[in-house]
Amino acid sequence: MNTRRPDSAAPLTQARRIVVKVGSALLVDGDTGRVNRAWLETLVEDLLRLRKRGQPVILVSSGAIALGRRRLGLKHGALRLEESQAAAAVGQIRLAHAYKELLEGCDVTVAQVLLTLEDSERRRRYLNARATLESLLALGALPVINENDTVATAEIRYGDNDRLAARVAQMTGADCLVLLSDVEGLYTADPNREPGARFIHEVPQITPEIEAMAGRSASQVGSGGMAAKIAAARIAVAAGCHMCIAAGVHRHPLRRIEEGADCTWFVPSATPAAARKQWIAGTLRPAGALTIDAGARRALLEGRSLLPAGVIAARGRFDRGDTVSVLAADGAEIARGIVAYSDVDAARIMGRKSSEIADILGFRGRDEMIHRDDLVLMRQELTGAAEPVPAPQVLP
Ligand code: GLU
Repeated sequence: MNTRRPDSAAPLTQARRIVVKVGSALLVDGDTGRVNRAWLETLVEDLLRLRKRGQPVILVSSGAIALGRRRLGLKHGALRLEESQAAAAVGQIRLAHAYKELLEGCDVTVAQVLLTLEDSERRRRYLNARATLESLLALGALPVINENDTVATAEIRYGDNDRLAARVAQMTGADCLVLLSDVEGLYTADPNREPGARFIHEVPQITPEIEAMAGRSASQVGSGGMAAKIAAARIAVAAGCHMCIAAGVHRHPLRRIEEGADCTWFVPSATPAAARKQWIAGTLRPAGALTIDAGARRALLEGRSLLPAGVIAARGRFDRGDTVSVLAADGAEIARGIVAYSDVDAARIMGRKSSEIADILGFRGRDEMIHRDDLVLMRQELTGAAEPVPAPQVLP
């Protein structure tokens, strides 16, 4: 924990991909129940500045329920689940409309993506959501994400957009996540009650002490609260992503962070790419194995992807997105990776050129059997050590 201010907002200014989450209390005017447009315009200006600087941005926006409830006459008190869902159905369309107007006025195409918990927890859906977001970013659109509240029932809900945003950051390999809310960050104690409470500028590690502080902090209105923010921080840092809790109530909330406003940064110990490779290497039981020829082995050592052409056998039952072992012809495990095809499809395309995949399978999948970003070489493969290494070592 660090109660001194770090020098800069470098994790934000130098990020390669940024996820920004805005809470309902910022977006929706408490008096009128409508979109807080004047504020939103300044946020949009900030987002566009990041994009102009070459930093792709994804926005996770709450506000659907808050916008919809007033319209439906659901004024006060806690809503029943079905009332929240009805409010979200009414509010989401308004939210999307506000973003479309503001962003398209600045020539930026906005894309609405509504996710459910299952989209991040089920492998196949996770891969689909990830691929969609990648395509949107590659095509220059600005994805605006919310939970699909109208279909997400109690047991299968995130419920708060803090964790949803952290999942989105993880899914898209973002290296910076900013949670804008009505609190400016984490204090050692509740500053409203304890005058000695100090602000925490940097959290290098989420310790039980930090968790306890989150419990004592003055927490915001809305479903998030500090506990949800710490849970989000856990997900983000494990994925190699910096996360910041910052006050969003002021105009130009992102520019303020860059100008040195107080905020709390959670610092990861690895980059997103290294964290991902660590996760792949740490898979306890790969679902299957691909045996490759000498040419493919050379390509892997040079840091290239594994193409179907270099695969000579597929073993085990696996699906797209599973981790598999990559074996040399003599059976030695030389790498592990996330495979882009199921065992059945892999067996059909192995030994064939990537350009033939569409004809053989009837759909156009990835050119690679395992993309280099999803592949980790085992250490003995690089050092030439004869004995097997018990736990796979991760290489950058
Ligand atoms: N998905 C909810 C909405 O848009 C907000 C969840 C949250 O408060 O974090 O209204």
